[in-house]
Amino acid sequence: MGILIQKFGGTSLSTDEAREFVLGHIRRERQRQVDLVVVVSAMGRKGEPYATDTLLTLIRDHGDALPPRERDLLLGCGEIIAASVLCSMLRSHSIPSIVLTGGKAGIVTDSQFGRARILEIRTETIQKALQEGQVVIVTGFQGVTETGDLTTLGRGGSDTSATALGAALHAERIDIYTDVNGILTADPRIVKDARPLSVVGYAEICNMARQGAKVIHPRAVEIAQQARIPLRVRSTFSEDEGTLVTDILDAEQSAIVRDRYVTGVAHVSGITQITVHAQDGHTDMQLQVFQAMAQHHISVDFINVNPGGAIYTVFDSDADQAVSVLHNIGYFPIAVNGCAKISVIGGGMNGVPGIMARIVEALTEEGIPILQSADSNTTIWVLVRESFMAKALQSLHAKFTLHE
Ligand code: ADP
Ligand code: MG
Repeated sequence: MGILIQKFGGTSLSTDEAREFVLGHIRRERQRQVDLVVVVSAMGRKGEPYATDTLLTLIRDHGDALPPRERDLLLGCGEIIAASVLCSMLRSHSIPSIVLTGGKAGIVTDSQFGRARILEIRTETIQKALQEGQVVIVTGFQGVTETGDLTTLGRGGSDTSATALGAALHAERIDIYTDVNGILTADPRIVKDARPLSVVGYAEICNMARQGAKVIHPRAVEIAQQARIPLRVRSTFSEDEGTLVTDILDAEQSAIVRDRYVTGVAHVSGITQITVHAQDGHTDMQLQVFQAMAQHHISVDFINVNPGGAIYTVFDSDADQAVSVLHNIGYFPIAVNGCAKISVIGGGMNGVPGIMARIVEALTEEGIPILQSADSNTTIWVLVRESFMAKALQSLHAKFTLHE
C-alpha cells in the first residue's frame, strides 16, 4: 500500500469549519486505500489564540530572557495543540489515529534551536502505527536532538517536516494543503487576478519560493526534488487539484511548461539599497566593503561592482549596522531604505529576446523608476521603491498576460 503525506497549514486548521474540510480530505484519501501521514502546523495566524506568533507574545516583555532551548519548547506547543484537536476530531468520526511529536516520529536534528537541520528520520514508529491502520498525525516544525531536546525547524518548517517525512517513507506524493488554490502566478493578496499554475518543475518553484512566494518553503521543495516525489499544493477549502510540482511530465504537461517563458512574479520587501563610492587612496574598496559585511554577518544581495564603487542591497533590519560598519572603515555610503525586489521568473525565458524590454515598458508606463536590475537564465530582478511594489507586480503580471 502506498503512503500519502498530507500537510495542513495554519488557516486550514483554525476553525471547526476549516477542520471539517480537513476531515473531508482525509476521508477521501482513506477511501483510496493509502496509508496516511498527516503533518499539521499550529492553528491560525498571528493574533489567533493558538498560533505560534501568539504564543510568543506571552514572553514578549521579557527581552531575551528565555534561552533558545526553552524557547523551542514554547514554539513547539502550537503544533501539539493542533495535532491533538485533529486526532480528537478524527476519532469522534471513528477514524483510528494517533499523534506523534516530531521526536516520536523519529525526526532527529542538530541542536541549532530555532533553525535546526534534520539529520535523519527513523521511521519505525510511524511504520508500525501505519501497519495498525492508524492515520498518523505528526506535529510539523519539530524535531528532537540526539539527547532528546525538542527543536524547531524555522519558518515554514512544517513544509519541511512534510517533505522530509515523504522522502524517508518513500511516499507516493506529498500534498500541501493551504488557503489558496495552488501556487499562483503572483501573491493573490497583491495581484487579484493571479492564477494557479497547473504543473510546474521543482527548480522553478524553488526559485519562486526563494524570491518571496511564501506559499511553500524552498528547502521543502529541494527535499522533494532530491527524493523525486511529486508535490501538490492545493486548497483545503475546495476539491480543486491545485498545482502539481514534478519533473516527470506527460506530453500535454511538457507542452504547457515549454510554451511558458514567464511563469510568475514574486517579491521581497523591506530592502535597503547601499551605494558606496570608491575613495581616493582606497584601491581595494570592493574587497574591504564585502569583507566588512561578511565579518558582521550582514547578508548582501543584488551586488553590482564597477571601478567607481559598489551597489548592493541588505535587509532594512541590517541597514543601520551596514552603514555604521562602512563609516568605520572610512566610506560614506548612500542608503535608500524601503525598497522591494521584484522577480520575474520563468524557466523558459533563457534566450527569448525582448523580455527585459517588456519589463522596462511595463514599469515605465506606470511611472515606476527602476533603481537597479540584474538577470540570470531563469529570473530578471528589478529593485523599486516599496510604495511602487504593488503597482509594479500588477503591471508586470498584466504585461506578460499571466492571468490568461
Ligand atoms: P499555510 O499556513 O497554509 O502554510 P502560508 O501563509 O504559509 O499558508 O502560505 C499561503 C499564502 O502564501 C497564501 O495565502 C498567499 O497569500 C501567499 N502567497 C504568496 N505568494 C504566493 C503564490 N505565488 N502563490 C500562492 N500563494 C502565495
Ligand atoms: Mg506556510
